[in-house]
Amino acid sequence: MSGDAVVVGGGLAGTLAVAALLGHVDSVTVIERDRYPEQPVFRKGVPQGRHLHVFLSGGQRALERLLPGAIAELEAAGAHRMEAPRDVLTRTPNGWHRRLHEGRHAVISCTRPLLDATVRAQLLAEAAGSGTRVEVLEAWEAVGLLGGADRVTGLRVRSRDTGHAERELPADLVVDASGRGSRAPRWLAELGRRAPREEVIDAGIGYSTQMFRPAEPLRTAVVLEPRPALPRGAAWSPVEGGNWLLTLAGVRGHHPPTDASEVPDFVASLDEPYLLDHLRTCEAVSPPYAYRDTANRRRDYHAQGGVPEGFLAVSDAACTFNPIYGQGMSVAMLSGLALRECVADGGLRRPGFAAMAQRAVARAGETAWLTAVGADRPYAAGADDTPPGAAERLQTWYFGRLAARATHDPVVGAAFRDVTHLTAPPSRLLAPAVALRTVVLPRRPGLASIPLRVEGA
Ligand SMILES: Cc1cc2nc3c(=O)[nH]c(=O)nc-3n(C[C@H](O)[C@H](O)[C@H](O)COP(=O)(O)OP(=O)(O)OC[C@H]3O[C@@H](n4cnc5c(N)ncnc54)[C@H](O)[C@@H]3O)c2cc1C
Repeated sequence: MSGDAVVVGGGLAGTLAVAALLGHVDSVTVIERDRYPEQPVFRKGVPQGRHLHVFLSGGQRALERLLPGAIAELEAAGAHRMEAPRDVLTRTPNGWHRRLHEGRHAVISCTRPLLDATVRAQLLAEAAGSGTRVEVLEAWEAVGLLGGADRVTGLRVRSRDTGHAERELPADLVVDASGRGSRAPRWLAELGRRAPREEVIDAGIGYSTQMFRPAEPLRTAVVLEPRPALPRGAAWSPVEGGNWLLTLAGVRGHHPPTDASEVPDFVASLDEPYLLDHLRTCEAVSPPYAYRDTANRRRDYHAQGGVPEGFLAVSDAACTFNPIYGQGMSVAMLSGLALRECVADGGLRRPGFAAMAQRAVARAGETAWLTAVGADRPYAAGADDTPPGAAERLQTWYFGRLAARATHDPVVGAAFRDVTHLTAPPSRLLAPAVALRTVVLPRRPGLASIPLRVEGA
C-alpha cells in the first residue's frame, strides 16, 4: 500500500472512488462542499436528488463487489426491489413489453438521499478495517489544482465557514468526482493544459418530479417512453416510506409543468388511463420540482494526453447521460470498480497511472454512452440534416426491428435488457440467435394495452 489520494466531491461517485481505493493507498481525503444531513434528506450539492433515481442491475452488481452487503442494507432501509420486466411495466413506441418473469435483472427504487446515505454508511464501516486512513472534510470546497501542466500534485481547498480559510492538500492522485458542475476544466487550463473538449448531444429534455402517497401500495413501476409523435413520457415508481415518485419528461416544446395543478393534464396527454386513474387516488406530498440540464456530455479526458499524471475525473465530472435511461449512478459504480482494478494492478504511483485509469473509467461508461447517444441523436439540437448513408440506414432498420421484437420475444428481450441494464456490451445485440430472430422473424408490435397480470402466474 502506498500513496495518498484526494477526492473532490463526497457524492455517490466520490464515495465509490474511496471504496475503490480502500486497502490500496495510505490515505484518502474527501472534500465535500456540503455538510451531510443527519437524516437522509435532500441536500443542495445534489440538485437532481429530488428526482426519481432507479438503480440498474449492472450498477448493483458493481456496488456489491465494492461494498458487499450494500444492496441488502438498501432493502432493509425500505428500498423496493422490482424484477424487470415482470414488475416494471414499460410502454415503448412499439407497444407494451410482455410481463414475463425472467429473473435476470432487478431494479432498486428509493429516494436518492436514502441511496446516498446508505452507501456512505457502508463505506465508512468498510473503511474502518481497511488500513487506509479516510478523512472527510465537510463544508470545504475545492478551488484549484496544485502542480503543473504535466503533473497534478494536490488540491487547493477553501472552508465554507466564516473566515474562509484556505489549505493545500498534497496528493499522488486527485480524483474529480464533483459532478456535472465540475470546474476541473478551468483548473487544468490554469495549470497550462488545454481544457478537455466536450461532445454534447442534447435532446433538450425537461423533467419535473413530484412525490405522492397512494391510497393502496403497489409493487410495480410504470414507464411510458416518449415516442416521435408525442415526445413526452413518465416514470412512476415506489420509494421508501410508502411514497411514490412521478417523474414527467418531455423534449423542447413539451416540457412538463412545475405547477401542481397542471400535472393531471400532462399525465392525461400521455394517453394511459391506468396511470391517470391511479394518480387520482393519490395524495401529493411535495410540489413538482423541475430539472432541465439533461444533455449527454462527455469530456475527452480519456483521449491521448487527455489528463496529466495525478489527475482522474470520474462519473458525471467526466461524462453525463440523459437521465431518462437511468444509468448515471450505475456508471459511477462501474467506474469505481474500474478504478479499483487499476489501483490493484501496481498502485497509483506507477507511471502513466492516471491515463490508464481514465481510459478504464471511460470504458466502464461506454455502453451507457452508446445507448443514450444513439437514442437521443434524432432529437438533438443541430441534428445533422444530411440524409443517412447506407450503413446508418441499415443500423436504424436493425435496431428498430430489434426494439420492437424485444417487447415480446424472450430471447431478444433478454439481450436487450442485458445491454440496457449495463450487464453486457452492445455487441450482445448482434449475437447470432438475437440477430437471426430480429432479421428473419416477422416484425410485430408489443402488447396494445398495459399488462396487469404476470404471464404464467
Ligand atoms: C433529473 C435526473 C434524474 C436522474 N435519474 C437517474 C436514475 O434514475 N438512475 C441513475 O442511475 N442515475 C440518474 N441520474 C444521474 C445521477 O444523478 C448522476 O449520474 C449521479 O448523481 C452522479 O454522481 P456524482 O457523484 O458524479 O455527482 P453528484 O451526485 O452530482 O455529486 C457531486 C458532489 O460533489 C460535491 N461538489 C461539487 N463541487 C464541489 C467542489 N468544488 N468542492 C467540493 N465538493 C464539491 C457536491 O456537493 C456533491 O456532493 C439522474 C440525473 C438527473 C439530473
